[in-house]
Amino acid sequence: MAIATIDPATGKLIKSFPALTDREIDDKLEAASRAARSWRVAPLAERTAVVRRAGELLEERKAEYGRLMTLEMGKTYKSAVEEAAKCALGCRYYADNAERFLADQPVAADKERSFVAFEPVGVVLAVMPWNFPFWQVIRFAAPALTAGNVGLLKHASNVPQCALALEQLFEEAGAPGGAFQTLLIGSDAVEHVLTDDRVAAATLTGSEGAGSSVASIAGKHIKKTVLELGGSDAYIVMPSADIDAAARTAVTARTINNGQSCIAAKRFIVADSVADRFTRAFVDAMRALVVGDPMDERTNVGPLATQQIRDDLHSQVERTIACGATLLTGGKPCDGAGFYYEPTVLANVTPDMPAFREETFGPLAVIVRAKDADHAIELANGSRFGLGSAVWTRESTEIERFARSLDAGSVFVNGMVASDPRFPFGGVKKSGYGRELSTFGIHEFVNIKTVRIFGESSAASSLTE
Ligand code: NAP
Repeated sequence: MAIATIDPATGKLIKSFPALTDREIDDKLEAASRAARSWRVAPLAERTAVVRRAGELLEERKAEYGRLMTLEMGKTYKSAVEEAAKCALGCRYYADNAERFLADQPVAADKERSFVAFEPVGVVLAVMPWNFPFWQVIRFAAPALTAGNVGLLKHASNVPQCALALEQLFEEAGAPGGAFQTLLIGSDAVEHVLTDDRVAAATLTGSEGAGSSVASIAGKHIKKTVLELGGSDAYIVMPSADIDAAARTAVTARTINNGQSCIAAKRFIVADSVADRFTRAFVDAMRALVVGDPMDERTNVGPLATQQIRDDLHSQVERTIACGATLLTGGKPCDGAGFYYEPTVLANVTPDMPAFREETFGPLAVIVRAKDADHAIELANGSRFGLGSAVWTRESTEIERFARSLDAGSVFVNGMVASDPRFPFGGVKKSGYGRELSTFGIHEFVNIKTVRIFGESSAASSLTE
């Protein structure tokens, strides 16, 4: 894939970038390795100050960064500005809490002084997707840098200007040279970087195929990975739910980020007795969405990020209809320039159909009927993915049951799935492993070191107490 900005709203090539040569990659690896040695011993206050400043700059520049995101991947400008603001929040969160998260943890054991320390692992390679071009990077970079690691970013090839802006952001925030660098490389060069001895670990957010490839290379070289992969989140609606609220929220949950979110609701599993009512309200609201220029503040759904993504989505729609699903609205690419697709709803979908089995990345919702709670759980868990899940019900026994039975990294009740720096984020099954955000995220890339000190003089031990 060429490293280039192609405006998804017009399909026009805006700017392309040459990939780094092997020599340039080596220089960046050397700079990262050098930075890792000094950054790991920099006082924590110095590291958090850089991340805090990055957060301030993100807030100050959210309009500028928002425009860049919209230009490169087509999300609505309004949501892009919100993304930059959320990045600022993420930076602040780690700047405020890193001291607590990274503090030594004393362990009461026998008579010696013992504690667990959290130390950086070194250079971490971050392979990132285009769909939240700032947020995905910040939620890796803020905890990694505060923990004393350094980052090498291999961003998706269609968002090179966002990638370069992020490198510049950390430089201006005061990160020392080499502590956070962007590598403009294609995915074919990832193995070369990952296998280099100067790289300690990798995190990848992206598709199942990319995750499998990076994890197998890393595994062969005994390097830890965190994988944040695809999802096909269930959105369950039970008879006791507030159906109008469930239908309204369902539209946002499906079409957020033009439908290209790993935690977008994708499979709508609705109890038989309320399925007709929910479907009517949901389809009406999907039809009312404004599809158009992502810079226009009236737009609800902008273009898909690339021509390929639109082609893939359309193929899923056609294959699912060919299997017997009913098209209720939408169902084809929009006429004219740009990679727009009509908000689409398919009903009478069953678990053997493509749009149920595969991740759908765009404004396509499938409705599946459930006989009862048991059936809804069976359908929800009948997916290779397990990222998020949502359930709408007002019955307390049902709430508890769904919360415990859904096989996913998160369960949201009477709401839609969203990430929040205070809560761990990640999945099970083919949605990956490891967690980002919260205290769990910062502990993914640290050496959790046991220290047991025997025979210490009492004066020395009281000094450190
Ligand atoms: P993608 O094609 O897998 O690309 C993600 C990143 O991996 C890009 O930087 C890409 O580089 C690189 N890549 C692709 N194939 C690779 C390979 N074989 N070896 C090494 N690197 C490789 O995914 P995407 O289309 O950008 O993003 C959409 C996917 O990400 C969806 O499945 C979505 O659900 C998932 N996602 C998951 C989360 C989460 O937190 N769980 C969050 C957001 C997105 P190139 O661009 O150069 O190909």
